Amino acid sequence: MPAVDLVVRNIGQLVTCSGAGAGPLGLLRGAAVAASDGRVAYVGSEAGLPALADDAVVIDADGALCTPGLCEPHAHPVFAGDRCAEFAMRIEGSTYLEIQAAGGGIYSTVRHTRAATDDALLKGARERLERLLSFGVTTCEAKSGYLLDVEGELRLLRIIRRLAAEGPWRLSPTLLVHVLPEDRREARARYVDEVVSELIPRVVAEGLAESCDVFCDRGAFTIEETRAILTVAKARGLALRLHADQIADTGAAALAAEMGARTADHLERVSTEGIAALAAAGTTAVLLPGAALCLADPWPPARALLKAGVPVALGTDLNPGSSMTESLPLMMSLACTQLRMRVEEAWLAVTRVAADSLGRADAGRLEPGSRADLVLWGCDDYRHVPYHVGGNHVRTVVIGGEVAFEA
Ligand SMILES: [Zn+2]
Repeated sequence: MPAVDLVVRNIGQLVTCSGAGAGPLGLLRGAAVAASDGRVAYVGSEAGLPALADDAVVIDADGALCTPGLCEPHAHPVFAGDRCAEFAMRIEGSTYLEIQAAGGGIYSTVRHTRAATDDALLKGARERLERLLSFGVTTCEAKSGYLLDVEGELRLLRIIRRLAAEGPWRLSPTLLVHVLPEDRREARARYVDEVVSELIPRVVAEGLAESCDVFCDRGAFTIEETRAILTVAKARGLALRLHADQIADTGAAALAAEMGARTADHLERVSTEGIAALAAAGTTAVLLPGAALCLADPWPPARALLKAGVPVALGTDLNPGSSMTESLPLMMSLACTQLRMRVEEAWLAVTRVAADSLGRADAGRLEPGSRADLVLWGCDDYRHVPYHVGGNHVRTVVIGGEVAFEA
């Protein structure tokens, strides 16, 4: 074993999310983690620690909780403007579809984003990623979807690529086919054709995305349109994700299963048949309680999904319209109190299950060979994080064996 260059010792509770420890979270007590070249080299008792390099960084956890870095599987971090006026309108009774029909909603974000410079978009997204980091997020999915036309979506994905190169976070870029452009809603077929014949091939040729996502719902794309887009995306080698059954049960979850998508996201209105299809296909459900909270929608049926054997991940759905939050710990609190997820299920949903849903089998867990991405918390029990609603106990975030954030 090479000499380790980072050690976290004196950990009170270590959540490994691997087979290294006890219970569903792989819990160890009185443990240490060592890393070499950005990878975990050792997880276990202090007595078994390997030799340290002379210049190794040693962090004393002082009995605190240590977990894998959180993985955010569903975020829309690149946009301009805000929608606080719409937030207020909705509270006074306007629906999402009414706001959209009145020219507000997503199209106002598209207009603001189109008018913004690259530097302004970078700055806004960087601030959101820094807030995600401050809540313990080390790996984050990042969707395009606020410019809609070919050149615009390529521009957003290039901005995400620049943010990924900047780090310290790890980003998983997704091409999101979000809604029809405002002035092209009468020419749906032509737009879908442009997506499949021009946008997706150019995204793939430039290596700009790992996944393709479609907002398949009432007011967005139909099942048939979505199937056409996903078929081409899959053939071109992109992983598939789907905004599914949020506004209405259109059968989108079943489509995600049929297409072999990695995830079906939202699912506030998924049917029993949709749940069975996800379970049979092994598709992960990404639940977004922030959106259900802000839209006063039904909570997604986490217990029914888990009972059926569907892997469940949790995301913030960070976006300017329906879930303006970067707090994944708050999503854990909502998942436990409102979706009735067990604390252990909520932890797995923001670590190992979320990482797997992004195709990152070396993230969201701490075991030899995994990425040395971890969080030290200012509390000593993993249950404390969802229990302290709206709190932020993040003390230190390590990414790739280096301290990336300190509270
Ligand atoms: Zn979303």
